Amino acid sequence: MVLRVFNTMSGKLEEFKPLREKHVGIYVCGPTVYDWAHLGHARTYIAFDVIVRWLEFKGFSVFYVQNVTDVGHLTEDTAEDKIVKRAREERIEPMQLVEFYMREYFRDLDSLGVKRPDISPRATGHLIEMIEAIQSLIEKGYAYEVNGNVFFDVSKFEDYGKLSKVKSEAMLAGSRFEVHPDKRNPKDFALWKRADKDALLKWGSPWSHGFPGWHIECAIMGLKYLGPQFDIHGGARDLKFPHHENEIAQCEALTGKKPFVKYWLHTGFLTINGEKMAKSLGNYITVREALKKYDAEAIRLFVLSTHYRSEIDFTDKKLRGAETSLGRLYNTLDGLEEAMERSVEREPARVEKTFEKRIEKLRAEFVEAMDEDFNTPRALAALFDSSREINRFLGEQKQVSTELLKGVYDGFLELGRILGLFQKERAKKVSEKLVNDLVNLLVELRENLRRKGDFELSDEIRAKLRESGVVVEDTSEGSKWKLA
Ligand code: AMP
Ligand code: ZN
Repeated sequence: MVLRVFNTMSGKLEEFKPLREKHVGIYVCGPTVYDWAHLGHARTYIAFDVIVRWLEFKGFSVFYVQNVTDVGHLTEDTAEDKIVKRAREERIEPMQLVEFYMREYFRDLDSLGVKRPDISPRATGHLIEMIEAIQSLIEKGYAYEVNGNVFFDVSKFEDYGKLSKVKSEAMLAGSRFEVHPDKRNPKDFALWKRADKDALLKWGSPWSHGFPGWHIECAIMGLKYLGPQFDIHGGARDLKFPHHENEIAQCEALTGKKPFVKYWLHTGFLTINGEKMAKSLGNYITVREALKKYDAEAIRLFVLSTHYRSEIDFTDKKLRGAETSLGRLYNTLDGLEEAMERSVEREPARVEKTFEKRIEKLRAEFVEAMDEDFNTPRALAALFDSSREINRFLGEQKQVSTELLKGVYDGFLELGRILGLFQKERAKKVSEKLVNDLVNLLVELRENLRRKGDFELSDEIRAKLRESGVVVEDTSEGSKWKLA
């Protein structure tokens, strides 16, 4: 089945055909690490996590780059570097702040079951590449320097505005910044900024001791790791303009290759009382706080119950509802496991085959939904329908064919896992297997010791295992163990 994605550039659903067969390169704008990750971030990164998982399920080999912004992202009101401002307030090194929040960001997203990107490049690790690119843009006539500041000359880039469709006049209306006096045109944006004498973050460059603009950072890291043209670029909808519009201008001006990105994907906001959840608005709930109150997979379920492009309003009631729904899915898994214990090895009967067909149909509905621009709410509806079908079937049947149950169980688990659910099940299984393997190993070692006549040590191992609740019995067929 073909996958169709909504491309912000065309404003339409398009068939997904990557530039290189079977390979997908994706760049998602990463967090600015000066504070805790909040549920708004979680919304965007869970959405892209599922997009990546789906691409992998479709057989693509995915190369996922998500940067870490550690310099150059300015506050909207006072135009100060967010990281520098916070580090100054806390009287610590900016990189100390960055290191702390970056590590905590990864811990939080790990807890939410978000797979880590293949590369997490940091802006400050790519200053040489940025300086070279800015130099090249000046040489090509796309950028100019005034008083140690370098700006991109928007008037030189014909296609400016093609992604966001923001009209020239409207581009300025939204900005709360005062126009920098060195700009030739108010729409121009900074590639390099001269820093004050006592600035906490600054680097040498041909123009001044300063720091890069936020937009050149993602442009350069995207080019460096994914090349002059790649498949998917993502972020939340607020990044369309100016951030992504400026990335296009810089990259296409630099390389001359168009389009820089084939598919632009943007997530809708997570809101609270109808307002975007944001650090600057102070209306945020951190992922850490949320994890104390709600199950991690329930947070995922809540996020995925809405299509990634739509807004999603956070309420405690919705999260509690997601916990209940998640419980239903786990009950189905438990039911299947129990049924497997009393199942019989035989060919599936007619009634079982009919049931299997219904489950297959629901699986096809799940796949169709995900292929239609990653429609997770519809995919979830198919998963819940499967859950109901399975529960009803298990309630009606006394004994079921092992083969049939195994197929249904694996299929149900697989679909949930694509959405990042049922991780608990895996953790449980992994730890069960580990315990089994370790006890087997100890019992085997003890048996070897006994054969060699080292009864003292072998008895000690048996006694220690007994203390841990494992009973070892020596039989004519060797040692066996069971839980006390
Ligand atoms: P930031 O840390 O502000 O640079 O944001 C990192 C990513 O999270 C960007 O793609 C943002 O657009 C996204 N993001 C921030 N707040 C929200 C929100 N309330 N809902 C959805 N995405 C958000
Ligand atoms: Zn970015």
